[in-house]
Amino acid sequence: MHSIRCVFCRGTGNDPFGIMSWHSSCPVCLGKAVVDVPALHVPCAHCKGTGAFKTFTCGVCAGKGVVSAPDGPTRVCPDCRGTGDDTPSGMACLTCRGRGWIGADVLC
Ligand SMILES: [Zn+2]
Ligand SMILES: [Zn+2]
Ligand SMILES: [Zn+2]
Repeated sequence: MHSIRCVFCRGTGNDPFGIMSWHSSCPVCLGKAVVDVPALHVPCAHCKGTGAFKTFTCGVCAGKGVVSAPDGPTRVCPDCRGTGDDTPSGMACLTCRGRGWIGADVLC
C-alpha cells in the first residue's frame, strides 16, 4: 500500500460538501488528508478520479478516486463504453462495477 493525497477533500481533511458541518472531517480520509491505496492503481472511471459522485463518496472507489490496477489484460467495458456509469440510472455500471474496464478474458 502507499498513501496519496485525498482527492475527496483535496487534501484539506474537511468534508468538502459540509453535509454535517463545514468543520466535520472528510469521510474518506477521516481528516488525515491522505488515504492508503494499492501501489498499483488506476483512476476510477465512475467518479472520473474525483472521489465524489454528486455529493456522495463514490461507491466504486470509496471516495479515493482510484481503484486497484488490473492484474491482467483488459478491454473497455462494452456496456458503459468506459464511463463506469449505468445510464440512465446514473449508478455504477454493473458489468464493470464502475471501473470502465473489464478483464479481457471475461465473457459477457
Ligand atoms: Zn479527505
Ligand atoms: Zn470513484
Ligand atoms: Zn461498464
